[in-house]
Amino acid sequence: MTTRRTFMMSVAATGAVLTATRALAATTLSETDPQAVALGYVTDTTKADSKKYPKHSDTQMCDGCALWQSKPTDALGNCALFPGKQVHAKGWCSAWNKRA
Ligand code: SF4
Repeated sequence: MTTRRTFMMSVAATGAVLTATRALAATTLSETDPQAVALGYVTDTTKADSKKYPKHSDTQMCDGCALWQSKPTDALGNCALFPGKQVHAKGWCSAWNKRA
């Protein structure tokens, strides 16, 4: 049985989790981040190194990637590869994989 007290504790805990999630989401991934460099991440897919990544295409963008975890309309979003950081919707990295 849920008492008023346990309900209020649950609401408070949920609020704390949401606040923590927002704090994590506030950091935008930099192209100079070591993991970003290792994966050839760029904030603008048209700036990807096509010599180094010949399979890259300008139509490949984070918001069309299987690892994109935000809404298709978001300018910045979460990526499964970069927890706690946000990537640009029009960005790209060499782990790009077409969303099904
Ligand atoms: S894995 Fe996909 S969503 Fe994540 S940075 Fe690379 S291209 Fe963007």
